Amino acid sequence: MGLFSGVCRLVPLLVVVLACARPQPSTLLLTNIRLLDGTGAPARAASVRIAGDTIAAVGELTRERSDSVIDGEGLTLAPGFVDTHSHADRALGSHPDALAAVSQGITTVIGGQDGGSPYPLAPFLDSLERHPAAVNLAMYAGHATLRMQLLGDAFRRPASSRELDSMKVLLRHELGAGALGLSTGLEYEEAHSADPAEVLALAQVAADSGGRYISHIRSEDRGFWPAIEELLTIGRTTGMPVQLSHAKLAMRRLWGHADSLIHRLDAARAQGIDVTLDVYPYLYWQSTLRVLFPEGNYRDLREARFVLDQVAPAEGLLLGRFDPDPSYVGKTVAQIARLRHDDPAVTLVALIRESEGKSESVIGTSMVEPDLERLLAWPFGNICTDGELAGRHPRGYGSFPRVLGRYVRERRLIPLEEMIRKLSSLAAHNVGLTRRGEVRPGWYADLVLFDPATIVDHATPTEPRALSTGIARTWVNGVEVYRAGGPSGARPGRVLRRTRSS
Ligand SMILES: [Zn+2]
Repeated sequence: MGLFSGVCRLVPLLVVVLACARPQPSTLLLTNIRLLDGTGAPARAASVRIAGDTIAAVGELTRERSDSVIDGEGLTLAPGFVDTHSHADRALGSHPDALAAVSQGITTVIGGQDGGSPYPLAPFLDSLERHPAAVNLAMYAGHATLRMQLLGDAFRRPASSRELDSMKVLLRHELGAGALGLSTGLEYEEAHSADPAEVLALAQVAADSGGRYISHIRSEDRGFWPAIEELLTIGRTTGMPVQLSHAKLAMRRLWGHADSLIHRLDAARAQGIDVTLDVYPYLYWQSTLRVLFPEGNYRDLREARFVLDQVAPAEGLLLGRFDPDPSYVGKTVAQIARLRHDDPAVTLVALIRESEGKSESVIGTSMVEPDLERLLAWPFGNICTDGELAGRHPRGYGSFPRVLGRYVRERRLIPLEEMIRKLSSLAAHNVGLTRRGEVRPGWYADLVLFDPATIVDHATPTEPRALSTGIARTWVNGVEVYRAGGPSGARPGRVLRRTRSS
C-alpha cells in the first residue's frame, strides 16, 4: 500500500471538510418590510435579522456575509400572534402543523381553558416536548379537571373542605409543572356547583405561586353582573392578574350594555385590580346545548322557553354535531322543530334528552355588533380564537385575519398598529409570557409577514376550515412554519412553562 492510495482516500474526506468550512448563511435577514413592532408604534421601514431562535437586530441593517436574505416585498412584519384562549392543546398531537393557527399568524396558543386541562400536565407537556408541534404552547391548570379527580360524578355540589385541601395539593403540583395559573369554566356543569369560596381558595394557591387566573365566568347571560363581580373579587383578594375569557354579552337584556361592562372593568383597574379580557370577533359562540341550562334543569319547559326567548333564539341555534341523529347537523333548532312538527322549546328539551351520554355541539347567536366592537376596542382586551384546530366554528381558522380585515381595514375600529399590539404584546402580557410579543433584539423570533391591504378571513359555519388570505409567512422560534397556502412541515414549537419570575 503506497502513499498514493492513502491520498486517494483522503480526497473525498477533504471535499466534505472544505464544504463544511465554507461559510453557510447562519442568519436570516428580512428586508423591504414595514415593521409593526407590537408596541403600538406606527409602521416604519426596517430590516430584521434572525439568528437561530432569536431576533438579533432591528433597524437599518446592511447585508452581512452570514445572512441569507428574504425580500419582504413591502409587506408588514409583526410579532407572531398569541391566542390566549385556544382549544388546540389536546389536538396538537394529531395536528402538529397547527394549520388553523399558523395560517392566521398565531405562533403561541394558550390551552387548559374553561376549567379543563389534560391531567396531570407534566406528562402531557413532556410528550409535546418530545414530539413538538409547529406552534408554542402554554397551559393553564383547569379547575373542573381538579374537581373531577376528587368528586368524580358527584360534581353537583360544593367540594368539602377535605376535598378542597386535596385539590390545592393537585393544583400546586400542576403549577409546579409549569401551568400559567388556574382556569375556570364556572358556567359548565362540572364546576357550576363550586361555591365562590372554593374557587377563591384555589385561586389563592395560584396567586401564591406567582400565577394568574383566567375564567369563563359563572354566567354569560342570566347571572352576568354577579359573575363579573366574582372575577373582580378574586383579583382584588389575591392581587394576581385576572382575565375574563371570551367576553360576551350573551342575552337579550344585556344587549347594548358593553359600555357598562367596560366602565366596571375600568373602575376596577383604577382601584388596582389587574383585570383584562380576551374576545373573539363573532356574534355567535360554540358550545353544548346543555350550557344553556347552567342549573341542570334540562327538562324544564319553562326554562327552555326562557332560553329561546332571552338567551339564544331557536333560529340562531345551529347544530354542529349531534351523534344521536347526524342528519340534524347544519340545521337550527327552529328547522328541526318544524321537521318534527313540534314547538321549539319542546324540541330543545327533547334534543338534550336524546343526546344524553352522547356528543352534541351547537353554534348559538346571542350578541349584537355594537357590543362586540366595544369589547374588541378596549385597550386592555386582547383577541383570542376560542377555537379548535379542526372545529366547526369558523373562529378556529378566521379570528385574527377577521379583526385585521373586517374591523381594522373595513370599519376602521382602531388603528392597525393598536390592533397588532392587542394581538401580540398585550396578549403575551395578559397571560404572563416573557420575551414574546414584540419584534425586539434578544426576543424570540416569532414573526408574521402579512398584507394589511388584503388580509381577510374566509371561514364560515358551513366552511369552517377555509384558509384566510393575506398572511404571507409565519415563523416560530426563527423557523418558517407557514407560507401562503400551506404549512412548511417544520415543528419548532416549544412548551412554555411558567417560571416563578415571569
Ligand atoms: Zn369558554
